[in-house]
Amino acid sequence: MKKQERADAILRKLHELYPETACTLDIDDNVFHLLVRAVLSAQCTDVRVNQVTAVLFKKYPDYTDFLSAGEAKIGEIIKPCGFWKVKAHYLYEMARMIRDDFGGEIPRTQDELQKFPGVGRKVANLIVSELFGIPAVVVDTHCMRVSGRLGLSSGKNPAVIEKELMKILPEEEWAPFGHRMVDHGRAVCMARGPKCGECGLKELCPSAENAGVNKASGTGTKKTAAGRKKTATGRKKTATGAKGKKVRNG
Ligand code: SF4
Repeated sequence: MKKQERADAILRKLHELYPETACTLDIDDNVFHLLVRAVLSAQCTDVRVNQVTAVLFKKYPDYTDFLSAGEAKIGEIIKPCGFWKVKAHYLYEMARMIRDDFGGEIPRTQDELQKFPGVGRKVANLIVSELFGIPAVVVDTHCMRVSGRLGLSSGKNPAVIEKELMKILPEEEWAPFGHRMVDHGRAVCMARGPKCGECGLKELCPSAENAGVNKASGTGTKKTAAGRKKTATGRKKTATGAKGKKVRNG
């Protein structure tokens, strides 16, 4: 089976396996809120970020409130997310830049968004795809690992992987594909101990641990590490991919 045919088949199967998928960070109509959640999500679970930001935004709902509060008060609330001193600095600086560099309007392009501290390509792609209706692949650690095992990407560099995936996926699938990689990476294809035997994609996966399983699909086989470990997914399912929502700057 050619790579494109296999990619199409994987996509169809992912839709069957995860008919509804969405970003696991809470998303409202406020761009600043998603920026803050995304910055806090570094080295922290989405579940915890959602809990912490529910408190944070109750007290400081707007970027101007962050400026009034200052880093120390922001830091007090975001401590459970880890690396809170650095993150508090990033969030305060982000609020300052919105005021001083962007005239109170959060920019809408990936390049401009990446000028904010703590915001890289992954976060910028998340923001534009979730809130501005701009197709983008969000390549996080799950997407890197799972798409690599599935033979859909070869690189370890997220920028390279993003380009590889954009070539083989229809544009409207870019954002939901990233979410489905997270779904699959959390539920079945974990970093340590993927459950290949239970995997709905095993017939299409060149990395399936069962050496005989892929002969029919002609994808070749490669053994992966066993040693299974159960993880909690804590996943909230909502409707697929938001496109061009009405948003406000906060
Ligand atoms: S077959 Fe194994 S390696 Fe391939 S996607 Fe499924 S769990 Fe991951």
